[in-house]
Amino acid sequence: MQDPSLYPDLKAVLEELKEALGAERVRHDATAPLPPAPNVSAFTSRDTRAVLRPGSVADVRALVGAFHHAKASGGELPGLQAVSTGRNWGLGSKEPAAGPVVRVELDGLGALRELDTEAGYAVVEPGVTQKELSERLAGTGRMLNVTASSGHTSVVGNTVDRGVGLRHQRTEDLLGLEVVLPDGSVAHIGWWPGDTSHGKGDGFNPLGLGPSLLHLFTQSDFGIVTAAVVRLLPRPRRQSTVRARFHREALAEAVDALRTWKANGLVSGVVKVYDTASTATYGGGDTAGGYVAHMSVEGTDRSAGALKAALLAEMAETGLFTSAAPGDDEQPPADDDVVAHVVDAAYRGSVAHNERMLASATGVTADRVDADGNGWLFFLPFLPFDGASVVRALDILDRIHLATGIRPGSTVNALDADVIDLVVSFPFDRATQAGAAHSALDLAHTWFGEAGLRPYRLDSGHARSVVGGAAAEAALQRALRAAVDPLGVMAAGRYA
Ligand SMILES: Cc1cc2nc3c(=O)[nH]c(=O)nc-3n(C[C@H](O)[C@H](O)[C@H](O)COP(=O)(O)OP(=O)(O)OC[C@H]3O[C@@H](n4cnc5c(N)ncnc54)[C@H](O)[C@@H]3O)c2cc1C
Repeated sequence: MQDPSLYPDLKAVLEELKEALGAERVRHDATAPLPPAPNVSAFTSRDTRAVLRPGSVADVRALVGAFHHAKASGGELPGLQAVSTGRNWGLGSKEPAAGPVVRVELDGLGALRELDTEAGYAVVEPGVTQKELSERLAGTGRMLNVTASSGHTSVVGNTVDRGVGLRHQRTEDLLGLEVVLPDGSVAHIGWWPGDTSHGKGDGFNPLGLGPSLLHLFTQSDFGIVTAAVVRLLPRPRRQSTVRARFHREALAEAVDALRTWKANGLVSGVVKVYDTASTATYGGGDTAGGYVAHMSVEGTDRSAGALKAALLAEMAETGLFTSAAPGDDEQPPADDDVVAHVVDAAYRGSVAHNERMLASATGVTADRVDADGNGWLFFLPFLPFDGASVVRALDILDRIHLATGIRPGSTVNALDADVIDLVVSFPFDRATQAGAAHSALDLAHTWFGEAGLRPYRLDSGHARSVVGGAAAEAALQRALRAAVDPLGVMAAGRYA
């Protein structure tokens, strides 16, 4: 049992919040940390003193204000840690980078405040899931850049963690944020609809004028995001997903060929390449030990048709691919090829098949992943988009497999002509392999780092303070943090 006198002022603040928000929105045992909750990645549980579940922006302001006031009066309290739906599986789920914290769960703020399919934006609160928003867009001329994770994940949560959808990194869709700052005030940062009083105008301009503040609040512990303005993408008139297989001997040349097609506009969105292990864990068909590339070809009827013909012809000319399925109705994926169904639908902004993939990966539905799912860890480095870099990365994964017995899966997500988000997954048996899986993740951080390949998102066991970064930039970020949150109302997060 921890010493209850460690946070003598917390109890009073929580009692005050029970009055203001309602007792059901405040969960705590004032004298000790809450009992540890399991997470699918088997990260160590940190000291979490209370969980606050606000139901409105006013509630968020009230709770942040109460912490600010108590700290300003000299009270000693843990900092606040924000999550949206908390399904950050593979990176720690709801676990903070360090304790003690008071966690603020924002899924109770569930309003889709505005939807404008003409202009192409939605204003969403943290509890709005990608399933809800994408389904609202069905049959319209717009679509959401959806991820391959569960439909029950948060658009805001994934976006502020800089997640990746089938179209591009979600930050590219971010136009504006509503943030409750550490003193309890609210600010609209970036572009906000109808905000002509601030001179931002009707045309999207997320960067505004002068130094941009928008990304002070992504991968950030500078405040609590209570809404985001996200872009809705024009839905292509015609879209089909071409799938092509190749063997490891052809890996470097095949990746270089994919790069040429991406750089020259034959394919749109994120080019995805699943290796054998990731195809197997995510529920793809038999790859015969090789790789499957998924490419979206789209446009008007004429341009999409012409691009597909050109792509298939170029593919055949390379002699690298063992098969190519043209997509559309011509050759739909087999029923049991879950990966192909997920990717194909997700290119069109639908998460209709995502729960099947989650079930393949973790063995359970979204609500059970942290309690009962098979173990799951992610390592997410950026690589240059060229064959040699991918070969180098996969050689490191072979060494990790040999050293730990954990077989990593890898998915290439080519974001543009130059950058790959390499999704490395470590599936493991929680009862017997948690130690080996965490050694594999540690080795990935070390060996990829030595090769100059660094992660763009971090897990709760490898916070920025652990993995390091450029000293001058980190010092400036710390100075900004001190200016925005001088009392430390917010807990230091994974990226601090
Ligand atoms: C099978 C599988 C497939 C997956 N596929 C993808 C994929 O394609 N792309 C991808 O990006 N991820 C993927 N994931 C990882 C993960 O599930 C998603 O990133 C998911 O969207 C994150 O959970 P969430 O939306 O509930 O966000 P949260 O867990 O709520 O938020 C993530 C983090 O953002 C910050 N944050 C959240 N809300 C706020 C707020 N309101 N204010 C301030 N900070 C906040 C916090 O640091 C928080 O820890 C996958 C996972 C699995 C198991």
